[in-house]
Amino acid sequence: MLANLPKAVTIVDVTTRDGFQMETGPFIPTAAKIEIVNRIARSGIPEIQVTSFVHPRAVPQLADAAEVFQGIDRLPGVKYRALVPNAVGAERALAAGADELNLMVSVTDSHSLANANRTTADALALLEPVLELAERAGVPATAGGATGLGCPFEGFPPVERLYEVYGFFYERGVRKMSVADTAGMANPLLVYDRLSRLRERFPEASFALHLHDTRRMATANILAGLEAGVTEYDGAVGGLGGCPYSPGATGNIATEELVHFFDALGISTGVDLDALLTIARRLREIVGHELDSAILRAGKSTDLLGPRTTGQTKLVS
Ligand code: ZN
Repeated sequence: MLANLPKAVTIVDVTTRDGFQMETGPFIPTAAKIEIVNRIARSGIPEIQVTSFVHPRAVPQLADAAEVFQGIDRLPGVKYRALVPNAVGAERALAAGADELNLMVSVTDSHSLANANRTTADALALLEPVLELAERAGVPATAGGATGLGCPFEGFPPVERLYEVYGFFYERGVRKMSVADTAGMANPLLVYDRLSRLRERFPEASFALHLHDTRRMATANILAGLEAGVTEYDGAVGGLGGCPYSPGATGNIATEELVHFFDALGISTGVDLDALLTIARRLREIVGHELDSAILRAGKSTDLLGPRTTGQTKLVS
């Protein structure tokens, strides 16, 4: 018998940020981005990381962040979040009316240097004015730790390193944290250990998990996360996304796989899985390549073939 399963979890969709930022093909039209955000909101997803207010030179695919925010419907009850890398980005996100500013640093110096050309400590210092801007605007800020559960350069960060990074945000009043397995290296024992210790160390904060399914361990890791009391999980429709330092790696766990998994466990998400699958098919058209989504490929485990008739038998092994 599985212990400690919650009755409900929150799904956060990051398709149009984490997923689209990794798309190296042609620029995805602003109208298509707006369409996907609107459809995701209507599927029952309560929180969407819409885009990143990163410098357009760094991520050309997200150069239309402000236009996307301006164009989307704002469904009541849905939180429209924005990733902000620095103070300029935060000002743009606040002007665009983002409901929440998501801050992110790499937990390990090697990844931080490779990704942002500065150490973790320098990256944190750069976020100080972002926290002040958010506070002044009365908009909540959250803290995410990339490579928090595994770094392709340094391996698994010790828990003390996590205490340091999340402690920086906690001391400054941030109460919503997220831990990312950016390179898909985590395992259930590690997830359980780190998330239960973080929750104990920072009792007033909530922790979310951002898992990549690079090595097909994401659902096992979610089970460990549930056991550790984590009730918020990120996903990207079609499993879009990736990690530039894990060549050939698959991306985020697919949002439809998350919902399918929680449905199977009897854990409520409030999300319409069929609507998500329709979005995944549309997304395949938009990005112009196959998606890494087991549920899109195989259908739901509740889709039955109906009564067998003779003549259908095929030998399979
Ligand atoms: Zn991701």
